[in-house]
Amino acid sequence: MSGIGAAALRKPGVLAGQVALVTGAAGGIGAACAELLAEQGAFVVVADIAAEAAARTAERIAADGGAAEAACLDMAEVASVRAAVQGAAGRHGRLDILVNNAGIAVAKPLLEYTPQDWERQMAVNVTGTFFALQAAARIMVPQGTGRIVNVVSTAGFVSSSTPEAAYDVSKGAVRQLTVSAGAELAPYGVNVNGVAPGTIATPLTDQVLDTPQKRARAGEKIPRRRLGRPDDIAGAVAYLASPAADYVCGHVLVVDGGWLLY
Ligand code: NAD
Repeated sequence: MSGIGAAALRKPGVLAGQVALVTGAAGGIGAACAELLAEQGAFVVVADIAAEAAARTAERIAADGGAAEAACLDMAEVASVRAAVQGAAGRHGRLDILVNNAGIAVAKPLLEYTPQDWERQMAVNVTGTFFALQAAARIMVPQGTGRIVNVVSTAGFVSSSTPEAAYDVSKGAVRQLTVSAGAELAPYGVNVNGVAPGTIATPLTDQVLDTPQKRARAGEKIPRRRLGRPDDIAGAVAYLASPAADYVCGHVLVVDGGWLLY
């Protein structure tokens, strides 16, 4: 059947005519995802709390020949999440792809977390992610088609070496959301999957790996012998967002250079 499975990857502009919203797309992994989806022909809504940086990412995509716009979104506010998703679908008449990427890491030893730390961590990574998925699914289910890709983490499978238990719990929740929503929405033609990055060089990891020596040491501990790059994750997200993944449901694809194999 044309457009499904392997045939889909042979088509240039495989996402032409599709509308994608990427959360946390101003920089890091989200920006790489937005750029790749635009290269594949999608119109991309670059949604982020950092409005100016999101606008710069959208401009860069346009300068490279893609189609994009920036939108302001605070994942910690359910009303803002709903408005961003509904606004994108309202302006463009449909929503085909949601990349649920925005996330923060509140990293500290378990004994030091405050209720405020916990609530902030959960508000952005769990509640925001859940309601972005729900808002997108409310558009995609009546459409009869849609792709949602949650950005999880290897921290959703094992403990991070950096003490950040609340972050680990938040990513475990997003992993399970992918499984539960994947099963519930598949009958409606909406595929929910996830990508679990290992250690990727972005501003998020710069908080901890703040010197070239630390980054080199971290890379040596990974079977692939390097840190990941945002593009490593974008490739996996683009696959799961494409018609090539039509028969993949509720799966979390680990992209970590082999880190979890040890
Ligand atoms: P990053 O900090 O470089 O980018 C995160 C983006 O999210 C930023 O543009 C930021 O402005 C935006 N953001 C933060 N809070 C927001 C909010 N309340 N509302 C809307 N946008 C908000 O991080 P990254 O490394 O690119 O991480 C992206 C995703 O990948 C996150 O979910 C993160 O947990 C996950 N992840 C990253 C790594 C890694 O090693 N970098 C590993 C595993 C998982």
